[in-house]
This record gives sequence, C-alpha cells and structure tokens, in this order.
Amino acid sequence: MCGIAGVWGSSYASQYAFLEIYSLQHRGQESVGISSSDGKEIRTVKRSGRVLEAIKQEDLNYLKGDIAIAHVRYSTAGDSGAANAQPIVRRTDLGEVAIVHNGNLVNYLSLRGELESRGVEFSYSSDTELFLALLDSGEAFIPEGTEIHPRDKDLLPRLFYALTRVEGAYSFLMIVGDKLIAGRDPFGFRPLAVGRKGNALLFASESCAFETVEGELWREVKPGEILIVDEAGIRSYFPFEQKKRAQCIFEFVYFSRPDSFIFGEWAYKVRKELGRQLAREDEVEADVVIPVPDSGVVPAMGYAQEKNMPFEMGLIRNHYVGRSFIEPTQELRNLRVLMKLSPNRAVLEGKRVIVIDDSLVRGTTSKRIVNMLRRAGAKEIHMRIASPPVVGPCYYGIDTPTREELIANRMSLEDIKEFIGVDSLKYLSLEGLRSCVKDRENFCDACFSNEYPIPVEKVAISRRR
Ligand code: AMP
Repeated sequence: MCGIAGVWGSSYASQYAFLEIYSLQHRGQESVGISSSDGKEIRTVKRSGRVLEAIKQEDLNYLKGDIAIAHVRYSTAGDSGAANAQPIVRRTDLGEVAIVHNGNLVNYLSLRGELESRGVEFSYSSDTELFLALLDSGEAFIPEGTEIHPRDKDLLPRLFYALTRVEGAYSFLMIVGDKLIAGRDPFGFRPLAVGRKGNALLFASESCAFETVEGELWREVKPGEILIVDEAGIRSYFPFEQKKRAQCIFEFVYFSRPDSFIFGEWAYKVRKELGRQLAREDEVEADVVIPVPDSGVVPAMGYAQEKNMPFEMGLIRNHYVGRSFIEPTQELRNLRVLMKLSPNRAVLEGKRVIVIDDSLVRGTTSKRIVNMLRRAGAKEIHMRIASPPVVGPCYYGIDTPTREELIANRMSLEDIKEFIGVDSLKYLSLEGLRSCVKDRENFCDACFSNEYPIPVEKVAISRRR
C-alpha cells in the first residue's frame, strides 16, 4: 500500500507536501519521496525510511517551485527499498515527468514485456514506471465525444492512451511541465481527495492530510476522473466507459485513518458501525470490551456502545513503534507485536474480556496478544473481529499474503480458535460488513468474498512473497 500527496500553486509546495505525506505515514513506511517543480525543472529527493527521519530541512530548501508531489511506499509490486521509491521521474518527449502512484497494475508483467520487446527501456522494477513509458510511446487516443482543452492537446491523448493500456488499481499524481495531473482508475479502487488552502490546491490519498496544513477537503477525485490543474484553472475529464465501481472496503476496515473522508463517507463512522454490527450479531456474555490498539479502537467503541458495556484499554500501546504488519518479514513482524503492546493488569485481572480487532489475516498477531492477556490474568477471552475472514489475496494494492498464508484458508473456525488460544471467536458476517457502507454495490470486498472485480485469470503481477 502507498500514500500519495500533492500541492499546486503554493510557494510552500514542498513543505506542504512533506506535511501531508507525514500524515499518511500509516500507508507505507519503507520509503518516502518528494518531487517539486517550478514549471520548468523537476527536483526530486527520495530515500528509504520514514518521512521525519528521511527528509531534512535542506531537502525541502532544495525542492523549489509551486508544484509538488509526494509518496510513502510499502511495496506490493516490485522490489522493496529505496530502489523503487517514488516519485518516479522519466525524461519523455513531453519533457521530464514525475509520478506517484497508489495501487497495483494487474497487467504489469505482460505490458512491460510487450514494451520491452519493442525496445523500451525501464529503470525500475515497479509497475508505476509503465505509466510514463506508455506516455512516452508516442501513441495517442481520444475517447469518442471527449473535447480536449487546447492547453491539454499535447499531453492528454498520450495520457488517455496510457490509461487505456494499464489495468488495475491506480490513484496517481503527475507533474508534467507546469501542470499537476490527478487521476483515479474507473473502478475507483484507491481513494484520492482534493483540498484547498487559500489559492493552493491540495491532493492526498486521504483527507486527514489536509488538516496537517490547515487546509480543507474540497471533494474527492471521482472514479475514472482525470483532473488537470495549471494557470488556466482546473479541467476535469472522464475518458473511460463507465465501469462498475470497486472501491476498497478494506480501506474502511483497516487501512485509512479514522479521521479521513473517503469514498463519500467518514472512515470513523463506518468503522464504528462495523463494531456496532458485530455486537448486533453477537451474544456472548462478558465483563468488559477492550480493543487491540490502534486498529481495534473505533470498532470496539461501536461494539461497547451497542451492547452498553464498559470499554477499557486492556492493552497499552507503545507509540514509538510502527505498525506491526507493515514490516516486510514475518520475523520482524513478530518481534514488533511484543514491542508494541503491553497488557494492562488493572483492567484484565479476573475479567471476562471481549477483545476487538479490525481483521485477522495470518493470525500471528492475535496469538501473541491472547498470550499476553492470559498472562495478565484475564479469566475468559472472547476474540471478536470487526470484518469477515480474509480468504482472498488482494491484487489491487493491499499487501495481503498469498492465499495459502491466510489463516482462514488453512483452518476451520474451531481450529483458528484453538490456534490463537481463545475461549470463543467470532467474525463479522459478510452481509453485516456490506450493510455498513452507504453504496454497497460500489465496493470491492474480494479479500472477504473472493468476488474479484477484475477476473483473477487476468492478474499477472509479480508478488514479492
Ligand atoms: P495477522 O493476523 O497477524 O496477520 O495481523 C493482522 C493485523 O494486522 C490486523 O489486525 C490489522 O490490524 C493488521 N493488518 C491487516 N491487514 C493488513 C495489511 N494489509 N497491511 C497492514 N496491516 C494489516
């Protein structure tokens, strides 16, 4: 998963982009990068590591210009580390172009192979470079009935061609000359919002990024919409045939920050409703509801309120450790769980506890947490998951493990219960999950339902593990 941010029309563009991307750190912690432009020259800084450690004041001084785009990365396609950090910059016959991208292109390998066989060279192993290689291929396409503004006539037919060739999930931001371009794939898999601060326009994967710069959310980029911003204003294009939407429901379950407005709703409200719905589907008797922080906090509040039960912090989080799942290897992830959470005896001793977490993927985190709770004296442990069993890998940008690694594919409910060591285990139903979002038919829930919006046979991306 990745986070992207952008600014157009501010002399503080790179500083704002830095602050925005800092608030999207939860979307990726492997690398960070910023490109800025004064309309003529693109300057880029990208490094492995987290935003605050990796980007220095002198970098921001160097990143001059009124336009900036930024990226945090957790690799899903392509190698990890600084080599594939974004923005990706490529010299094209339209000048230098920089891009940041969140999502996964499912036809990455075949398309890259096709271009390579025609002599196109690639500098990176990430799928994102494909956009720029296609833009530079000289091919053009104008969808029927599309009127192109004179200022966009060199660029847009090329971009439309590129977008007709790539398939899968993408929200992107691009700098081409004096223009900033924002786009979302026609399914709308990944979120992307537009904000305002004075005369400047802001862009971000999640609206929480606008708060960091005291900006405000204006609207979301619509699925299939391409926005072009330059001195002449903002122009909106819809080059694709209308597709069924497939916004990622896992953004609501886990990925997005609760204070973000995505897919037409506040993530907080949906996440809390997941907890409420879980409570409505549950009959267990207990003394206290505790969340697995941070991801379980909001659904646990919903659960406790619905059941009129006490909500307590039975696990305390050390805030100086990052998200556990997001480490690339299992060994590191395991260590991180222990570093991250401690049991709170004041709440747990002698109690029957309902533990709420957002999702169960491999099951390793829960097993360790349950151990902790037992050691701290919990009398009964009832694990409740505010989403259905994860049964399908994601090909659209969320780093779920392979099908075989998913615990729900390897074990029955009873076996999972034994494995993680709880007295009872219950998941939210698929129907219950679907009932928590406004327009259920506009969502992709393939990881829970195995109903893939793009047929799985078409998927030929390289998965890192
Ligand atoms: P586990 O069951 O040990 O694989 O860990 C599951 C926990 O990791 C969940 O409770 C989430 O909080 C978090 N998580 C689930 N999916 C992801 C993901 N794709 N990326 C990062 N964290 C995740």
